[in-house]
Amino acid sequence: MLFPITVQSQSSAEVFGALGSPANPKVAVAFNKYYTSEGLAAISKKIATAYPNLVKRRSIGKSTEGRDIWMMEITNYKVGDASRKPGFYVDGNIHSNEIQGGEFCTYTAWYLTESFGKIDYITEMLNERVFYIVPTINPDARNNYMLEANTGSSPRAGMIALDDDQDGLFDEDGYDDLNGDGSITQMRRKSENGTMIIDPKDPRQMIRVGVDDVVTAQRYEYLGSEGLDNDGDGRINEDTHGYYDPNRDWAWKWQPDYIQRGALRYPFSAPENRAVADFVLVHPNISGAQSYHNSGGMILRGPGAEEDISTYNRQDIQIYDAIGKKGEKLIPGYRYLTVYKDLYSVFGGELDWFYGSRGVYTFTNELFTAYAYYKDTKGGRDQMYTFDKDLTFGDGFTPWESYNHPIYGEIEIGGFKKNIGRATPGFMLEEEAHRNMAFTFYHAYHMPRLSVSKVEEKSLGGGLTQVTATIKNDRLMPTHASQDLKYKITRPDYISLKGANVVAGMIVENEDFGVTKEQKHNPEKLVVRNIPGNSVVKVRWIIKGNGNYTVEVDSAKGGVAKGSKPSKK
Ligand SMILES: [Zn+2]
Repeated sequence: MLFPITVQSQSSAEVFGALGSPANPKVAVAFNKYYTSEGLAAISKKIATAYPNLVKRRSIGKSTEGRDIWMMEITNYKVGDASRKPGFYVDGNIHSNEIQGGEFCTYTAWYLTESFGKIDYITEMLNERVFYIVPTINPDARNNYMLEANTGSSPRAGMIALDDDQDGLFDEDGYDDLNGDGSITQMRRKSENGTMIIDPKDPRQMIRVGVDDVVTAQRYEYLGSEGLDNDGDGRINEDTHGYYDPNRDWAWKWQPDYIQRGALRYPFSAPENRAVADFVLVHPNISGAQSYHNSGGMILRGPGAEEDISTYNRQDIQIYDAIGKKGEKLIPGYRYLTVYKDLYSVFGGELDWFYGSRGVYTFTNELFTAYAYYKDTKGGRDQMYTFDKDLTFGDGFTPWESYNHPIYGEIEIGGFKKNIGRATPGFMLEEEAHRNMAFTFYHAYHMPRLSVSKVEEKSLGGGLTQVTATIKNDRLMPTHASQDLKYKITRPDYISLKGANVVAGMIVENEDFGVTKEQKHNPEKLVVRNIPGNSVVKVRWIIKGNGNYTVEVDSAKGGVAKGSKPSKK
């Protein structure tokens, strides 16, 4: 008799909920492993099927190899108009080998849906906001990283083939998994002129010897990553996948390949990025965004290039700082940094396009950091050896073995496998996903939230009444980032008085001194350029007679709000 392969090992009666985690989720997902693109797609489908009132799942476009790029739109569809709520966009995995964004996005979707109606913070979040979650915007090369032999750092590009060595052939000389362990490790050879020896304290490690060292041990030379000369041109691994960098392909401060290595042909020439841009362009309600990369434990903001400093002005940097510094607290070991200053120059990066071109406050997190190995700041690659010995028991290292190479002769192959170093180890994955998600929630929480906080009436005599409305934004972000105001990216906010006979309308610039600015045309629909964060805007109308009017606020990024006539005292 055949037994089912998986069984529900515990009934709900046998479970006690741990703090902060859904104890009896409708959709069971293990967050201590990674999923292929098809795996992520299957999980998002399960979540959408289990929560039809909270999730709409659709493909935002096709990848180079024709895979769907799946997006989960998550909100409480029973409250308000989903397309009018402030939107928060999250994606992962633009760099093929930087995989855990896929799981972090999926965790976020899972957590939102499983916690809705149980945790007030999440319920309110989904009543007021909409999340657009795209676990992988690079499904082809995600699979390549997982299913083909790779290093921890390959591939970075998507699957558009390019002729790196300009011999008329495309991607014809990539890595070769000579020892068959599924990873591309290192090749070394005994050599009397070599500069490396085996570390006497740890045979896995090589150490460099200096010119003055007296060396009695066998010397070795490194021969690079595992590979053959597949095209017989005298070089090894010189035309691997790509090469282009999908994160140099965005239409903000884009530079061609000879200035910015990896820039491909023109902005948005990678179809996956084009799909994201098309989606964002028709969702002007998106006011916060997050992309997930690895590694290094960084919360990054733009600008990517020093030449772009003036784009990020002081008011907006204050908002970035407030959220980024909170992130450092939420995710121990991560530092809040600026790309061009603390990392390297990036032209045509995703986060700069979101902010520079769309006025959306955007962070990129570089997931996983060597801090995590022993929860200390010493970090460093050296700790990989002890970590893999102490905590993953050798799972991350292929021992050195001899191999007869067609060109190099007798060599040895071994080294770290692809899943150590950048991808978070399984037992830490859920914690890191949760902490990064909490950071995105803090960011999403501080998207603008508008309300009509007060409506006051004053009789002016002669059948005229003055109506003053106070519009409040009680969150950190304005309805328009200063970049947005500068380039008029998003339309202005409208504050309308409906159901009254409006004679005049004005914006109150200084209530104490009675300074107002009249809007002569269409006074019933006042045009307000911006509603600042943590602040109020006051508007005033003179109306004739008495109606049952409502005050309506309509903001692309701040959503909609309504207020009505004060009740008679
Ligand atoms: Zn990256």
